[in-house]
Amino acid sequence: MKASVNKERCIGCGACVASVPEVFDFDDDGLTKTIVDNIPEEKEEETKNAADMCPGSAITIDE
Ligand code: SF4
Repeated sequence: MKASVNKERCIGCGACVASVPEVFDFDDDGLTKTIVDNIPEEKEEETKNAADMCPGSAITIDE
C-alpha cells in the first residue's frame, strides 16, 4: 500500500504526522510528505484512518 499527500490541499495541521510518524513527516515548506514508499503492513490501518481524518482530504491511498 502507498500513500501520497497533495500539497495543494494539505493545510499543515500535523494530524497525520502525530498519528503515524512512521509514514508522514513535515517537509521544509511546513506541509506534509510521505516518508516511506510502501506503508508497513502494521501501519496500514492507521494510515487509512489518517487519510479519513485529514481536514483537507489531502491524503490519497493506493492499495
Ligand atoms: S492531516 Fe492532512 S492537512 Fe493535516 S498535515 Fe496531514 S495531510 Fe496535511
